[in-house]
Amino acid sequence: MTQPFNADRFITDRLRAIDASGIRKVFDLAANLKDPVNLSIGQPDFDVPEPIKQAAIDAIERGVNRYTVTQGLKELQAKVNSQIETEFPNWKGTGYGNLITSGVSGGLLLALLTCAGPGDEVIMADPYFVMYRHLVTLAGAKAVYVDTYPDFQLTAARLEAHITPRTKMILFNSPSNPTGVVATEQVCKDVIALAEKHNILLLSDEIYDEFCYEKVARPSGKPRCPSPASYSPNLLFMRGFSKTYAMTGWRLGYTVGPKAIIEQMTKLQQYSFVCAPSMVQVAGVTALDTDMDDYVERYRQKRDMVVQKLGGVYNLATPGGAFYAFPEVPKKLGLSATKFCEKAIANNLLIIPGSVFSNRDTHFRISYACDNQMLERGLDILLELAK
Ligand code: PLP
Repeated sequence: MTQPFNADRFITDRLRAIDASGIRKVFDLAANLKDPVNLSIGQPDFDVPEPIKQAAIDAIERGVNRYTVTQGLKELQAKVNSQIETEFPNWKGTGYGNLITSGVSGGLLLALLTCAGPGDEVIMADPYFVMYRHLVTLAGAKAVYVDTYPDFQLTAARLEAHITPRTKMILFNSPSNPTGVVATEQVCKDVIALAEKHNILLLSDEIYDEFCYEKVARPSGKPRCPSPASYSPNLLFMRGFSKTYAMTGWRLGYTVGPKAIIEQMTKLQQYSFVCAPSMVQVAGVTALDTDMDDYVERYRQKRDMVVQKLGGVYNLATPGGAFYAFPEVPKKLGLSATKFCEKAIANNLLIIPGSVFSNRDTHFRISYACDNQMLERGLDILLELAK
């Protein structure tokens, strides 16, 4: 007799170890809301700038629809390298490698599968970008969390206490999702020095680099976000197009870093993603020439609005970048962040409890990537909830 088909039997332990229930619960609760005030979105509220769209359309019509070489189109790689060397003159002539990826997510997956495995420890800040936790699990390594409350700086001192002989990588993310906090120049300098001292690979995820309201001078070119790459090319350095140019659905990013590692990541990309989307790579060259200052300025104004309205009522580490803020649930309410967010959802406001990004359940994430009217309504509800 044939047995009833049991799909569950085919799911590996690797996948079973990934628990995505936290965020699912939030979206299940939100599904019942009609026209919610939505401060939960992790992507820009503007559309891709016109010249970038046109470049993709032209590329499709010209027939750039086939596989590209795995490492990415030469023109895009050259543009990335030229921007890197303008921003970080210390990288010139070091023979670093470059891989064009399917989003920064693609780069993260390749990097973790390349460099971390069973027996290895990968350190990250708590709170962290959710994908980090799950990708480390998928790679078979152990995630080690550094509590960074209340200022959310992943300092060398905080890191050092967690380094063991098994530590392989440090995941560093500035500006940060979910806190919006920007690492100071001193933190960037100390963290890369610490990683080099202990022979640990630093992975710097700078997907929000353009949305930085605390830029610092560079030896050449415009002021930019502080970065550990200013001090050494011995790190994996990732930037993307999803947030900067609102190309989240187009899947484009890049990783630059030590050639031997980039070569292995390229090999893995060859047998998995194959290449980043061809027409999007062409548009990426146009994107890198597109000035986003006006867009960023509008987000800085939204950030100011959040800080002005919530500051004094909520404990809030000033977000210096990205489009998130991570306030603490007022202690006098006696609520966990999960309970607080359920209450917010009952008041038609969609926000995400800190427990989704953290081992603590005391804070919540708001995204101000929305129009000013919605943001204002959301902040007013938060002021009411704090009473
Ligand atoms: N890294 C961080 C910190 C993010 O917040 C995100 C997206 O939310 C990503 C990486 C992935 O971005 P993408 O794969 O769209 O480039």
